[in-house]
Amino acid sequence: MSDTKEDPTTMNRSESDQNGMTTGRSDIDTNVLIDNVTKIYDEGGEDVVAVEDVSIDIRRGEFLVFVGPSGCGKTTTLRTVAGLEEATEGRIVIDGVDVSGLEPRQRGVAMVFQNYALYPHMTVRENISFPLRIRKFPDDEIVSRVEEAAELLEISELLDRKPSDLSGGQQQRVALGRAIVREPSVFLMDEPLSNLDAKLRVQMRTELNDIHKRVGKTTIYVTHDQAEAMTLGDRVAVLNKGKLQQLAPPQELYDQPANKFVAGFIGEPAMNFIPTEIVPSGSGMDARTDVGTIELPEDIVTAVENWGGSHDQLTLGIRPEDLNDAELSEDQGSAGSSMEAFVHLVEPVGSDRFLTLRPDSDSHESMEFTARVDPDSDITQDRMVELTINRKNVHLFDERTGENITV
Ligand code: ADP
Ligand code: MG
Repeated sequence: MSDTKEDPTTMNRSESDQNGMTTGRSDIDTNVLIDNVTKIYDEGGEDVVAVEDVSIDIRRGEFLVFVGPSGCGKTTTLRTVAGLEEATEGRIVIDGVDVSGLEPRQRGVAMVFQNYALYPHMTVRENISFPLRIRKFPDDEIVSRVEEAAELLEISELLDRKPSDLSGGQQQRVALGRAIVREPSVFLMDEPLSNLDAKLRVQMRTELNDIHKRVGKTTIYVTHDQAEAMTLGDRVAVLNKGKLQQLAPPQELYDQPANKFVAGFIGEPAMNFIPTEIVPSGSGMDARTDVGTIELPEDIVTAVENWGGSHDQLTLGIRPEDLNDAELSEDQGSAGSSMEAFVHLVEPVGSDRFLTLRPDSDSHESMEFTARVDPDSDITQDRMVELTINRKNVHLFDERTGENITV
């Protein structure tokens, strides 16, 4: 990007020639509509499908997070919204206007990048005011907007410093300030915290939440970090291999993951997947596994009946926190809601104890699973233990499709 002509971080809709077509939708709650967007890159004659038929309706004022592993299409989707990439198919609608043909600066969006893109020879004040100066805003307007943004970001005392005199967190705030002064209708952020160390990242997360509340503008935020997604997002869109897996509020993703990918990606330590066979038992059903037989709750039995597939193609999903030391449980692990496993490793982390378990002492590493038990547990390594299972929270996944048949 050129230093003076194009400003990559700021794109102003008010300068738009407004020649986009209106959609005729009257849904004023929608701020940004990603409508059946597909992006295919040509990589030396080979098609690379970066984004495949993604549709998301982003509400005004919402903090919407895209999360997924590296290469799943997060940046491409965001750049398509910004106008830095053109969708191969589908369209982007902002405030009811199809902006697909519009330049980035005509879309009323401001982008904050991972690498801040601050100008090192300019002071903080000059950096923040830069987008206003190149658009010839009057001096007094520039001064007041910069001071307002600096106050909001609590960097007023840094305005005359150079970026090299600032910490990573302060530089990130300056980059945010430069986006804020343009008063865009939408903020786009691509892994803005990933250059910071772990502690600062957690602190900036809280600050971003706070800043978002004060600014109140729609924000589309990209991260590969599920914990960041869960703490920041009003709703979280999980992507894998260019496809939208699930779009839901954080707690819903956690409690009702739509498929095995989401179940394994959201939550740390990850959900355990245990091979199982579903067998009839009395009027209900049992999940038979290498570590014991679990009596399935009624609603899960109903889900299996409604699903109607073969009973040997399901995988059992249990979160580590839904396993506990049977010694500490009131019912001491009653039949049908407990398992027996070999403790390979115990890791105390203060608030919990993490157990790495295997079906038997001679089981292969690939059979390992994890429990997050009470810190009072006195379970030790290298022995068999009994664990209780919180049966109402187990999931069953269709091995062929990955679909969670219990939600
Ligand atoms: P993420 O941000 O989730 O890590 P990206 O959106 O950057 O993923 O990339 C998605 C896919 O598209 C990857 O396979 C990546 O290699 C490919 N890709 C991204 N940009 C280009 C490009 N300019 N040319 C060719 N392939 C690209
Ligand atoms: Mg990326």
